[in-house]
Amino acid sequence: MPEFIPVVEKEDIHRQITRVAAAISADYEGRELILIGVLKGAFIFLADLARCLTLEKIKIDFLQASSYGADTVSSENIALKKDVDLDIRGKDVLLVEDIVDTGLTLTRLIAHLKGFGPRSVRVCAMIDKRERRKVAVAVDYACSTVADGFLVGYGLDYAENFRNLPEIYHMKL
Ligand code: 5GP
Repeated sequence: MPEFIPVVEKEDIHRQITRVAAAISADYEGRELILIGVLKGAFIFLADLARCLTLEKIKIDFLQASSYGADTVSSENIALKKDVDLDIRGKDVLLVEDIVDTGLTLTRLIAHLKGFGPRSVRVCAMIDKRERRKVAVAVDYACSTVADGFLVGYGLDYAENFRNLPEIYHMKL
């Protein structure tokens, strides 16, 4: 049975989201913002973040990159499983990620979105795991920073399990 060590507790998650949502709302005041969630891991984070934003014009879309499957080690070959549906040309886009680890997924997704000619692309991540970064990538809005470890809960899975846990745990197999 894996061991679950709490890393980010419920109150902390909501405190961090409130802080980041206030910064995003201030930065995009008076503009339309398109939130693009990265499936599946960011679905709970995006739902909570979106409800904390005070902007009047928000649209929401999703895309999906390939997952780890039942592995806990990042793959360097990233495939796009689902593309955005909205027309983002000339729009301000905020890519909403669960975790930025090596940065490879994010780099690939940003390049992909830029191909549609948006006005801007910024990144909001629930967790920034900076110590394992392989490519320099800017996380414009980060809720929590962790050093290492494989995390589950609050949208994050291990082999599709544990996404529904209300807090974020370090899972030790
Ligand atoms: P990267 O390409 O930055 O190495 O990995 C990003 C993706 O890997 C994330 O969107 C997430 O799906 C997955 N990932 C990275 N670290 C973790 C982790 O600690 N737990 C889980 N469940 N997924 C992770």
